[in-house]
Amino acid sequence: MKAKRILVTGGAGFIGSAVIREIINNTEHSVVNVDKLTYAGNLESLLPVNNNARYYFEQADICNSDKIKYILQKHEPEIIIHLAAETHVDRSISEPYEFIQTNIIGTYVLLEKAKDYWKNLKISKKNNFRFLHVSTDEVYGDLNGKANVLFTEETPYAPSSPYSATKASSDHLVRAWHRTFKFPTIITNCSNNYGPYQFPEKLIPLVIFNALEGEKLPVYGNGKQIRDWLYVEDHANALLHVALTGEISETYNIGGNNELQNIEVVKTICRTLDKLMPSKFEGIKKYEQLITYVTDRAGHDIRYGINTTKINKRLNWYPKEIFSTGVEKTVEWYLNNMNWCKKIKNRIN
Ligand code: NAD
Repeated sequence: MKAKRILVTGGAGFIGSAVIREIINNTEHSVVNVDKLTYAGNLESLLPVNNNARYYFEQADICNSDKIKYILQKHEPEIIIHLAAETHVDRSISEPYEFIQTNIIGTYVLLEKAKDYWKNLKISKKNNFRFLHVSTDEVYGDLNGKANVLFTEETPYAPSSPYSATKASSDHLVRAWHRTFKFPTIITNCSNNYGPYQFPEKLIPLVIFNALEGEKLPVYGNGKQIRDWLYVEDHANALLHVALTGEISETYNIGGNNELQNIEVVKTICRTLDKLMPSKFEGIKKYEQLITYVTDRAGHDIRYGINTTKINKRLNWYPKEIFSTGVEKTVEWYLNNMNWCKKIKNRIN
């Protein structure tokens, strides 16, 4: 395949940086990273590829239409993978404004500017152009009480949180831009990601960080909420695969087939840490002793579960990692990168 120029929004974030590392390390394609660098964006996550001649960075807010237009004309991408978003559910409950702004308005601005750019491309480039919108399984709502049911691409949308409602809105905009303007879009809806370089307000890095500092490990409600966990490098690989081989107008669910209760996830991390970095804190023999149940998140969904048959069968894509191997790699990574962790933890407010 001829090397392509891929524009990634949100490339300084957790998943976006994994996508960029995947492209630079494992392909011949080049990348333009468009990121505003919010508290969640961190260029240090890109140090492994920063000096590569196929990597470019543009600091920009996706809500800024002039800047987005300029970047598209300057770099002439053949594919856009749109990940930039506000992503932390708790923050969407306390301060939803930025979620409406970036996730809905930002996606609208990006779609409009990308559509204008695409319309003026020469016919061969126009025919090969793709806009991949990266979304979440949370748009489908809660599977509580539906033990054997999984989200398929046909599951109706029923978002519960301000975060998932803004992601659902952006998915609808993307579909409308395809249907109305024939703009060549694809959507993916993915389950919970875990792995290296995740901002430590999210469950898995939070538990690792707090345990290593002998702090409480907060678990919402009774901890029995179920999520499907996907290793971030598997997700990055899936996104590139969908961007290059997916069908225009289609939606693909991406998941790891690793459904686990939050409390099981926390206990697995504790056991992994017991093995790799035994507690040196007085009175704490096992990290599990630090687990503390806290008041549940408002509107918390009980269960998400993903049916991945479509991406498995139609695009022949499968994850490589299972949770037990992925979590061990993840804990090892955080233990080996405590400087990255300490610097970024100072940003939590
Ligand atoms: P993240 O919070 O780690 O990173 C988001 C990135 O977007 C940051 O680098 C931030 O600086 C950038 N950004 C935010 N607002 C911006 C704006 N207005 N303009 C330009 N850049 C901006 O997020 P993540 O976990 O990497 O998630 C990436 C995408 O994947 C999101 O769209 C999210 O909804 C989706 N997703 C995430 C998960 C998950 O488990 N993390 C699961 C499914 C889908």
